[in-house]
Amino acid sequence: MRNNDFELSDIFDKTGGKCHLCKGRLTYGAYGKLNHSRGWEVDHSKPKARGGTDSFRNLKPAHITCNRQKGAMTNSEYRKTLAETSLVEDIFKFLCFMAVIFIAMRAIESLKNRGIEA
Ligand SMILES: [Zn+2]
Repeated sequence: MRNNDFELSDIFDKTGGKCHLCKGRLTYGAYGKLNHSRGWEVDHSKPKARGGTDSFRNLKPAHITCNRQKGAMTNSEYRKTLAETSLVEDIFKFLCFMAVIFIAMRAIESLKNRGIEA
């Protein structure tokens, strides 16, 4: 990647130190540190595989994990994936909640039945 005409900090400052994909915080000193939770790297906003260039406009800071997950997806495709992931999580939480309610109702019903029989 060519970063000739601008500094790495210029890219970092574009978003005020936030990942342009998930909006989470980045640590400037953790550039390229894969094992750092706020590690980041330069993302090609429009992927090179989709004709994106190394121009300053196309370069944005992103978590290393976000950038790797995004791969050759466009930003909107990646954000859609994030939204779908959280929808699946929400559905799972809802089903767990319903299961707890169901078990509680069965328990109450069982106690009532025992009360009637006694
Ligand atoms: Zn991120």
